[in-house]
Formats: sequence, C-alpha cells, structure tokens
Amino acid sequence: MPVPTVPPVLTDEVTFARYPFLPQAAQWIRDMAQRHSIDLNELLDGPWMEKARQRARIRLIDSVQSKEGVQVVGGDIHTEEGRLIEAFSFYYARLVVCASEDERLIARWAQAEAARAEQLLIQDEVNLPVLAATYISEAVRASQATGSAVLASSSMSMRQLRQGNSSIWKIGLSDFIEICPKITGDRWRLPNVDLKDGWVTLHNERQYTSSAKLARLLRERIKRGIEQEALEKMAEVTTDLAVRLAEPVGIVRNLMANKASEAIALVGAEESDWPPCMQKIIAELTNGVNVNHFGRLFLASMAATLALPQEACVGFFRGAPDFSEATTSYQVEHVYQHEYTPAGCGKLKINHNCPVLPGDNRTCDQPWMDHPLKYIRATQRWKRLTSKPAESVQKEPAQTEESAEDKPPSDAD
Ligand code: SF4
Repeated sequence: MPVPTVPPVLTDEVTFARYPFLPQAAQWIRDMAQRHSIDLNELLDGPWMEKARQRARIRLIDSVQSKEGVQVVGGDIHTEEGRLIEAFSFYYARLVVCASEDERLIARWAQAEAARAEQLLIQDEVNLPVLAATYISEAVRASQATGSAVLASSSMSMRQLRQGNSSIWKIGLSDFIEICPKITGDRWRLPNVDLKDGWVTLHNERQYTSSAKLARLLRERIKRGIEQEALEKMAEVTTDLAVRLAEPVGIVRNLMANKASEAIALVGAEESDWPPCMQKIIAELTNGVNVNHFGRLFLASMAATLALPQEACVGFFRGAPDFSEATTSYQVEHVYQHEYTPAGCGKLKINHNCPVLPGDNRTCDQPWMDHPLKYIRATQRWKRLTSKPAESVQKEPAQTEESAEDKPPSDAD
C-alpha cells in the first residue's frame, strides 16, 4: 500500500520544527527563509546561521556515531529562533549529505533522522496520529476505553487526530507486509501477529506499547521518505555547491571511515586527484627530507579522511630521516582514531607546506580554494564531467562561476 498521496493539513510550527522532514514542512521552511532573508550564502557561511550549522554538525556526527540516531535534544522549538535552528540545521545537514554524492552516507543519515523521529513519536501521542496519516495508508486507532475505532487519514480533523493516548493501533495488512520485512524480530512476522479482516492489531506488550510499535513502523516509512528526497536533490547539487561544502563533507567522511572502515566516495580519489601540498609532502618524505610536524600531521589526517589503509599511511613516512616503524605506526593510529580534520590552505601556507604560487595551479588559484579537500572534490567532479560525452561538458569546475550563491535555499537545493 503506497504512502498517502495527500498528507493531512498541518499548520503547527512546533511540529514542523520537531519533524522538519515532513512533506507539510517544506513550504514552511521556504516561508521562513523568505521571512528572515536566509539565502544560500547565509546558510553556508553567514553569522546568522552559525548556530544552525553547529546543530547540523551534531546531527551529522550523531548519524555516524550513535546507534540511536540523531539526539532528540535540540533547541527550544517553542521560540522562533529555536525553530529556525532546528529547521535549517536539518536543511544544512541534508545539503552536506547530498553534496557527498554518497548513497551509503545518505542512507545512514536518513536512518538516523528516522530513528530520532521514532524516539520522539513514542512520547508524542499528540502528533503520532498525524504522522501515521502522513505515512501509512491504513492506520486505525482503537480506544481501549470505548473500543471505538478511529481511522487516521488525511480527511481527519486535527481534533480527531489529537485524541487521547490509551490506544491500540491497527494497520492494514498491505502496509504491514510492505514495511515489516525490513524489521527484525519474531513479533513482526506474519504468522505471529493478530490478523483479522485485513487488519493487523499492534497489541500492547509489557515493555512495548502499541504506540511504540506504530512509531517503529513509521520509522521505516520516514526513512524511505527522507532518503528518496535526498537522492533526488543529490542530482541537483552544482559543482560550486559541492566545492563549498567539501569541508563538512570531509569531516563526515572521516567519521565514517574511522567508524566502519568503509570505503566512501573520497576513497575513490586517485593519486592524481591529491592536491599539490599532499603530493609535495609525500615526495619530500620519500626523498628523505625532514618534513615539519604540521606537514606530517596534515598528511596523516588526509590519509585518514581518504580512508587509505593505515599501513599505506605509515609507508609515506618510511623515507623520513627519523623513521621508526613503531613510533610512526602509533602516531598514525592516533590520528586515525581521533578523526583529525585536515588543516586548511591558510594554515598550510603559514607553516610552509603549500608549494604553489599564484599562476602555478589553476585549481589552487581559484578564489574559493581554502581547503585541500575542495581541491580533491573539484578534481573528481571535473574528471566525472569530462568522462561524459563532450557536448554535455560546458565548463571546467575550476572556472565555474555560475552558482547557487545568490539563490535562496529553495527546495531544489
Ligand atoms: S592552495 Fe591549498 S590545496 Fe593548493 S597546494 Fe596550497 S594548501 Fe594545497
């Protein structure tokens, strides 16, 4: 049974801020952007949105590090500022995962946001029926006190939707069959459920209420909705936007690489994609030059971000005049474990680790170039574009000026 095509009407701003992925929240976020003059530049770099970006970073870090998903605790959504932070932190985090162009990262983030929603819904009897009517075609709430049944559908009034909480939920068999294969546990297998007249009753258990079961089912549909939307938006990410978000993308990738040792998009970076600073340090170490501490730390943190094997990273230092297998292995392991973010161009220049001068390298000459991860992203995208048929290639990314800079953060962003 498909997700309802027409979700129930919803106007409560607190609900939108709590569940910013709701389809009903999209217009609200656009209106807020207009009301507070928040355009893409402000969202990416402006001081007004700094708190939203901080909260987004927490959302993203939780996505990777927490089994429970994104932490429930956010700003005070009963204030306009708190709602702004919640809404735009979700929006910014989605931009980052879309810019990563990594479907596994998108799936993981969607899973974490959906897990957060589940935790909230278990406690939120007010909005549980609203979300049920948004994501499940057939969901019926039967009051334990009266035995009467209420269908949670888009035609219900908000008063109907927000009735009491002593509920036992039933859902249609089609919805149950579609959702449950993705959930582990015997209670979700068809032979073990109470099935009657095409409805599955979600009975209360001692430590698992009917509402909590419904929230668990909703988590699957919410995850699918968030993921599908992000995948659609991934196709709309411009080169400029990808480059501007290269640093937060790199941070999340670093976390992912260390957490699960998974190969994520940047892992595909070939040696020829590496920036001149990284190549210079490797060449100097190979030739026995005593690279300074800052350069060594940068190299190890880049290797970690690119998810290169630790042994390969240790190998970079093998030619160093003071090389010790044990010491280097220990230090490299420390960098990999502690998820250091590679330094930016400014610090590399100050510490004499940037080899390029104006005119040496077209990508490094770009006004937006302030981080070596941006160099890799630009190089990778340019390669991808040039590997397509010639007529589809219009501009080299290093020269691309058309951008979303002046665009308000529309839903397409
Ligand atoms: S400009 Fe930045 S990316 Fe380019 S070589 Fe220098 S430090 Fe590396």
